[in-house]
Amino acid sequence: MGEFDLIERYFTRPARHAVLGVGDDCALLAPASGMQLALSTDMLVEGRHFLSTVNPVHLGHKALAVNLSDLAACGARPRAFLLSLALPRIDEVWLAGFAQGLWALADAFGCELIGGDTTQGPLNISITVVGETPQGQALLRSGAQAGDDIYVSGHLGDARVALEVFRGSLSVPSSVFNAARIRMEQPTPRVALGLALRGIATAAADISDGLLGDLSHILKASQVGATLDSAAALSLLACATEFELPPSKHLQFVLTGGDDYELVFTAPASKRAEVHAAGLIALTRLTRIGQICAEPGLTLLDTDGQPMAHNFVSFDHFA
Ligand code: ADP
Ligand code: MG
Repeated sequence: MGEFDLIERYFTRPARHAVLGVGDDCALLAPASGMQLALSTDMLVEGRHFLSTVNPVHLGHKALAVNLSDLAACGARPRAFLLSLALPRIDEVWLAGFAQGLWALADAFGCELIGGDTTQGPLNISITVVGETPQGQALLRSGAQAGDDIYVSGHLGDARVALEVFRGSLSVPSSVFNAARIRMEQPTPRVALGLALRGIATAAADISDGLLGDLSHILKASQVGATLDSAAALSLLACATEFELPPSKHLQFVLTGGDDYELVFTAPASKRAEVHAAGLIALTRLTRIGQICAEPGLTLLDTDGQPMAHNFVSFDHFA
């Protein structure tokens, strides 16, 4: 099979909303009037973002999921995506699995594949997503205000539990590992929540590198600080109901675990009812975990509400 047969067999479908999809030099999209395009790209590199042994169905899911998560953080509705693939060789079993996971998620979110690039090389997957938001309504990192509440969607830290088990540095019961592994390999992008939070959240970001790091981006962009309630943070680890981690690891995984693909967002305290309703509409659990303050810096409060010393740091590829 050659490059073009591969593209045709696995990655070509008739265009739906797009004016022109796969097959020409460019794809064509017509943005609806009054809408802005939201664009984001995320790359997955073997050995860095996934293990070579991962099920290709899960990898196809995750490659798109991490990109849809960025659209979710902006409150954008997914429209289309481009897929750039470097493949060491043509492995049809792998390609069929990867395409299956990719198409399933793409269909679930109405996001169509409109083009890409395919080359031979070390396994590397790069997706660019295109979404849309009504003019001026995108959720940004820069809108948090002193006094706002801070919320997190879903659960945090479980993907890290799975990673530590894979690394051999943690041992947990198999039921706990299986659930954590789903969180690591098949994250659910919080697109419905992002859409429901338009006009309610003052700032938002998705959590890919760890809560502390991603919240810090909001604080910096908004020129504010925050206090975080460690008791509320501890409640975010889903597997903690079944298995007790050492307390220091439990908090570390929640705050800096990475690969969570949840949303962290801020909203005025006067909008708690609206935030609650957004969580219900999106069928997504929300936890209020802290507050924005005017003074810069991020303070962690212990279970007695006292500032806590810590040296947690979120993931950084070059640190
Ligand atoms: P060119 O060399 O002119 O840039 P390519 O040969 O790279 O074109 O690609 C041919 C067509 O196939 C283009 O429409 C491109 O967008 C599409 N394409 C290439 N690789 C992929 C892929 N992995 N998934 C979807 N579409 C792809
Ligand atoms: Mg090309």
